[in-house]
Amino acid sequence: MKLLEYEAKDLLSQSGILVPLSSLIYKSGESPLQFPVVLKSQVPVGGRGKLGGVEIITEPSEMADAVDALLVLDIKGHVPNVILAEEKLDIAHEHYVSFVVDRSSAVIQLIAHKNGGVEVENNTDKFLKLDFDIEEVEAIAQKVAVLFGHTDELSATLLQYLFADLYECFTENDATLLEINPLVYTPEKTFVAGDCKMELDDNAAFRHEWNFEQKPAETNFVTLDKNGTIATIANGAGLAMATVDAVADSGMAPANFLDIGGGANTESLLAAFNRIMTFPHIQGIVINIFAGITRCDEVARAIIAARQQIENLPPLYIRLAGTNYEEASELLLFEDIPMLITLEECIAEAKEATKS
Ligand code: GDP
Ligand code: MN
Repeated sequence: MKLLEYEAKDLLSQSGILVPLSSLIYKSGESPLQFPVVLKSQVPVGGRGKLGGVEIITEPSEMADAVDALLVLDIKGHVPNVILAEEKLDIAHEHYVSFVVDRSSAVIQLIAHKNGGVEVENNTDKFLKLDFDIEEVEAIAQKVAVLFGHTDELSATLLQYLFADLYECFTENDATLLEINPLVYTPEKTFVAGDCKMELDDNAAFRHEWNFEQKPAETNFVTLDKNGTIATIANGAGLAMATVDAVADSGMAPANFLDIGGGANTESLLAAFNRIMTFPHIQGIVINIFAGITRCDEVARAIIAARQQIENLPPLYIRLAGTNYEEASELLLFEDIPMLITLEECIAEAKEATKS
């Protein structure tokens, strides 16, 4: 699950990492911050700076118009619900640092580059990549300080604390990615997280009380055709693609791709149903679940909740198999919600019903 920048920065701050003073703006109005401020569109994608999603405001009089414009600005298919306003940082240098899980060697790696910022992909010299061991944090910080070009003792010490805090933030929150770009080095010789991209492991959802704007099941949602007629809900990227293909092969127009992943629960699935309901021409929803980590009963509960809570829910074509299938079929039977055995049947019924 991807976090929005302000959510990720909240977690950073809880781990003792410096972030700019900020406030959230839902509609244009006063800001309690000192000018100049930076307005940042809170969409779950990167590269906002290059697409007009990050704006520096020097005069209070410019605020309202800028906020209004950002609230309707589409960035890679996303429009924000909220704008993050931050006091503008003075930047001496922009660095790059991230923590990732390296799946093949099952370790947490630290990746760093002297030059961060919006052009980071265009760096020609290599990123420093090393296995992160908290016992070795002092030596690692020394190395990165040299890479960054800060030869003073203070910088190495500050980086040591920063990396220890980032590591704690990463592990405590079951993150799979934590990227700080830019890591701002200020004229006062401090390091501040200018931006933060964070992804959490959906499979760890059960041990947290996550209440973020994005829900696990929504993060693997891709809009294919806003005017499509058949929505799809599946689990696993492969099955989700096969489901989309089956809809398209039958001559119907798939509206979306959705892989609900392993951490899907009733709330996140309901969020996905609600997202589907924003498409104007949906005539049916094909639900194709082959449950392993996902549980069929959880999906069934979400389907029942969706039927109760969402007005004008289009017909559902449901195929469930795998973990807790029996329980799911009882739940659905009790609510008179029919299930089908195969994806082919789902497609055939949808096709029959939408034939005009
Ligand atoms: P992204 O493009 O989505 O990664 O958004 P960022 O939050 O990383 O912002 C993009 C760029 O805007 C940064 O690399 C900075 O150069 C600039 N920027 C963002 N915040 C500040 C700030 O507080 N002060 C200054 N001087 N520049 C900023
Ligand atoms: Mn950035």
